[in-house]
Amino acid sequence: MNIFSPDLFRQQFPALKEKTIYLDSAATALKPLAMIEASDAFYRHNFATVHRSQYQHAKETTQQYEATRQQVAELINSADSDTIIWTKGTTESLNFIAQGYFRPRLQAGDEIIVSEQEHHANLIPWLILAEQTGARVIRWAIEDHFLPSINSLNALINKRTRIVAVSQMSNVTGAQIALDKVSQCVHQYDNCLLVVDGAQGIAHHPTDVTAFDIDFYVFSAHKLYGPNGLGICYGKRKHLEDMAPWHGGGKMLTNATFDGFTPAPIPQRFEAGTPNVAGVIAFSATLAWLEKQDMHHANQYALELAEEAERRLSELNGFISYRASNSSIVSFNFEGVHHSDLATLITEKGIALRTGQHCAQPLIDSLNISGCLRISFMPYNQLSDIDAFIDAVIFALTLLK
Ligand code: PLP
Repeated sequence: MNIFSPDLFRQQFPALKEKTIYLDSAATALKPLAMIEASDAFYRHNFATVHRSQYQHAKETTQQYEATRQQVAELINSADSDTIIWTKGTTESLNFIAQGYFRPRLQAGDEIIVSEQEHHANLIPWLILAEQTGARVIRWAIEDHFLPSINSLNALINKRTRIVAVSQMSNVTGAQIALDKVSQCVHQYDNCLLVVDGAQGIAHHPTDVTAFDIDFYVFSAHKLYGPNGLGICYGKRKHLEDMAPWHGGGKMLTNATFDGFTPAPIPQRFEAGTPNVAGVIAFSATLAWLEKQDMHHANQYALELAEEAERRLSELNGFISYRASNSSIVSFNFEGVHHSDLATLITEKGIALRTGQHCAQPLIDSLNISGCLRISFMPYNQLSDIDAFIDAVIFALTLLK
C-alpha cells in the first residue's frame, strides 16, 4: 500500500489539471487515471459483451465482469459475491428493492420508517410503494447533531414496521448514523428489514454489511472514484433468492417458452439485457486502485480540509454551518444572503460547488431554510483550494452585503 501523500494522490486525477477548483465531490467524485485507462482499454481492445459468446475476448470479459462482483463483495464484507447485483446507480437500486422485494410483501397498514435526512432517492421509492400497497411512510425526525436518534427509532418501531430506510451519511450535513445501533433496533422485529443508502458513506467509511447485519446496502460507483451509470445493490442471499425478477429479457432465465419462463439463479435473475460491461470493468480498476491507496489517512486528510474550510468560513460575519461533526461536507449559509446569489458569484471565480435543496427537501425544510451552499472534500483537494474558495466567498459577500 502507498503511504498517503497528498501530492501523489492528486497526480492521479487528470481532471485536476483543469482550472476549476473542484469542491463538489459529494455530487460525483473525480476519476483516477487507473479507471480512465481501464475504460479506454476496454473500448479500444476488448469490447465484448458478457455471458453470451464463446470467443476469447467474450470469455475474458465475462470472467473480469464476474470477478468484479467479488471485489465489491470484499469491499463491503459480504462473504458471497452472488449477493452483489449491478444496477444503474443508488437510485435504481432503491427502486429495485422497493418494487422487486417489498411490493409483493407489503400490506395496507404496514409501516416504512424513513429518516428525515434522506436524499429523495431514499424517500420517493418508499412513497410510491406506500401509495401502491396502502402502507404508511413514517418520518424519523432529525434531532441533535443533525441526526435522528436511536431513542426515537425505538419509540417509532413496532410490529407493523417492515422497513427502516436510512443513509449511512447525509449528503447535506454529512451526519453519520451508528448503523450497528440502528441494526440492533431493527432486528428486534423478525419482519422488519434494514435498507441502507451508502451513496455518500461508501467513499468515506469502511462498510461491513455482515457485522452490521444490513439487509440491503446500495451505492453508486461514480461517488467512489468509479464510472457513471453503474450502481450496486447488495442484498442478503435469502432475500434475493426469495425475490422474483423485476425486469424481463435476455440472460435472466434458464428456460423460455410461450407458456412461461424459469428465472436464472441470483444474481443473473436481476440483470436482464446487455449490462454496463465497460462500467463494471472500469470499476474493477477503480477498486484495484483503491486497494493500493492508504484510504484511512487519505480520508482523514479530507476531513481535516473540511474542518479547516469550516474554521475559515466561521471567521466571516453571519456564517451558519450545517456541518455534522466528522464530515467531509460543509453545508452553509450567510445571514441575510440568498444561497443561490452567493453561489452564482462564487462559481464565477472558478469554484465548483452546489447550492439549493440537494435533493433532500425534507431535511432542508427541517432546518427551516430554503436551501444552502455545499462544498465537499476528497483527498485530492488541497489547502490552496480553500484559500481560493474563501477569497471567492469574501468577494461575493462584499458585493451582496
Ligand atoms: N443517496 C444519497 C445520499 C446521495 O447523495 C445520492 C446522490 O447524490 C443518491 C442517493 C443518488 O445517487 P445516484 O444519483 O447516483 O443514483
